[in-house]
Amino acid sequence: MHSPFSIAIHGGAGTIERRLMTAELEAAYRSTLAQSVLAGHAVLANGGTAIDATVAAVTVMEDSELFNAGRGSVLTHNETVEMDASVMDGQNLDLGSVTLISHVKNPIQLARDVMLKSPHAMLAGEGAEHFAFKECGHEYVEQDYFFTDRRYNELLAMKKTGDVALSEARYPDEKKFGTVGAVALDAEGNLAAATSTGGMTNKRWGRVGDTPIIGGGTYARNGNVAVSSTGMGELLMRCTVAGDIAARMRYAGASIHDACYDVIHGDFRELGGQGGVVAVDAEGKVNFALNCAGMYRATVDEDGIALVAIFADEPLSPVTE
Ligand code: ASP
Repeated sequence: MHSPFSIAIHGGAGTIERRLMTAELEAAYRSTLAQSVLAGHAVLANGGTAIDATVAAVTVMEDSELFNAGRGSVLTHNETVEMDASVMDGQNLDLGSVTLISHVKNPIQLARDVMLKSPHAMLAGEGAEHFAFKECGHEYVEQDYFFTDRRYNELLAMKKTGDVALSEARYPDEKKFGTVGAVALDAEGNLAAATSTGGMTNKRWGRVGDTPIIGGGTYARNGNVAVSSTGMGELLMRCTVAGDIAARMRYAGASIHDACYDVIHGDFRELGGQGGVVAVDAEGKVNFALNCAGMYRATVDEDGIALVAIFADEPLSPVTE
């Protein structure tokens, strides 16, 4: 029996600045991050698996409209929601990934079903949704469920510039949102990672980001590391950020801190990438790395207290209500 267990989450990274954050919004983020990480922690404390812990944590953030995943996802250029999600089990390198999802309430749970209930690793669009509703009993929701006025306003602003943007880019309404992810080590020594997103605001219809790409947005391997990424998906993919962190640790003996730091501040940043990662190693050591103003993030200390941070220069600390 391995112990202890460990969990950490992110809720997206980008231009998150104190002067643009209201006290009310900040409190809502901190409390939802704490709720999410504690939901995952409860699974581990009850002897559950790292996979189930990461899915439980991500589900809380998918259900919150604060984050760019599930409800509250950003909009495509065509004013639709297209979500991506993936999970990876470090025990057997098993994985489940879904992309172009428009009507499944919790894409992360569908990704886990692809891993557990299909012979495949990745399903896309209509075929993935058919599997969800006909074979796995997932809840069908209309696109309206995912929509928020904030996302619509962000899209209108981005359409004016013709750009695509991270959900945490600076918008006229000064609200920021994020892709979500979780990594965990369970009491059996198994590592897992899960990531879920609505992608980038004003993305093209059919665009797939890094989140469902193993080695880009998600990676887990026992004895090595579990990683979940957030940021500009095209660059996270081009730099195989999650896979590169794992390779540096596995083949070059890098520490989790050095591997995460060097990858996030290496090619990824030099090519113009903004973003960050959350990772946990085989001993349960957690690391957060980011190269931008902030990343919503949280972990749980040895006493079971949720520790949360948002801004880049801020240490993790308990949430005070
Ligand atoms: N990585 C996500 C994507 O490109 C966006 C994000 O992390 O906010 O789809």
